[in-house]
Amino acid sequence: MSATPKTALTIAGSDSGGGAGIQADLRTFFACGVHGMTAITAVTVQNSLGVQGFTEIPVDVVTAQIRAVALDMGVNAAKTGMLASAEIIEAVAKTLDEVRIGRDHDVPFVVDPVAASMHGDPLLRDEALEAIRTQLFPRATLVTPNLDEVRLLTGLAVTDRESQRHAADELLELGPQWVLVKGGHLFDEPECVDLLSDGFQYIELSGRRYETKHTHGSGDTLASAITASLAHELGVPDAVDEGKRFIEHCVADAYPLGEGIGPVSPFW
Ligand code: PLP
Repeated sequence: MSATPKTALTIAGSDSGGGAGIQADLRTFFACGVHGMTAITAVTVQNSLGVQGFTEIPVDVVTAQIRAVALDMGVNAAKTGMLASAEIIEAVAKTLDEVRIGRDHDVPFVVDPVAASMHGDPLLRDEALEAIRTQLFPRATLVTPNLDEVRLLTGLAVTDRESQRHAADELLELGPQWVLVKGGHLFDEPECVDLLSDGFQYIELSGRRYETKHTHGSGDTLASAITASLAHELGVPDAVDEGKRFIEHCVADAYPLGEGIGPVSPFW
């Protein structure tokens, strides 16, 4: 018999193409040595060409999944991905308090504020942005928006390092302990520069930029790798560092699959 491993819970949507969502989260948890558990919020119909549609899981089934695993198996860290609707977000927030997950309960909680796919297909109903801001951000140990999500959440367009810092400050006003503003392909530099801040420290994290269009699932994979490191009790800056190293390998080894955008690779 083995010792019980650390556990991580993802509250997110299913991707039938296997590149993003719950599928990416679970294989990242596995690769990072934690036992992965899921509360599925929505089932998407998608392939490499985009999201053709999705169905939400009934709210009471979403919250029952969280309760079932938290009360029996225990959760060392949790993350959210696609949450689909304000109704689901509000119920998830309430349930996390009930099972004592989040920054105020010493169980790290990462919010990846997923709003749309890379193809621009919506994964969140419009009215749900406000629920992410008010219900999830104040409970988060870390939030991980990309630049599109920063613009949706704050109205700010990040164009350089100074505006990236300003955006981090605005997002911290919404209550998370830490924010990671992902720079992606913003800067005309050979590196991707993400900014991590808790309002006191401003840490620039550079990563190599790879010329590939196959980056499906990269946001989910990064957030999951960070969550796994938090489950292993790393502090936030170290966990983000580990997550960046993990996603860099996955992007370097991304592969074509289907006619459109292929996934980042879990094989390395
Ligand atoms: N589908 C699901 C279920 C997701 O959770 C996400 C991202 O979080 C996506 C699709 C979009 O992935 P990408 O933007 O990497 O294409």
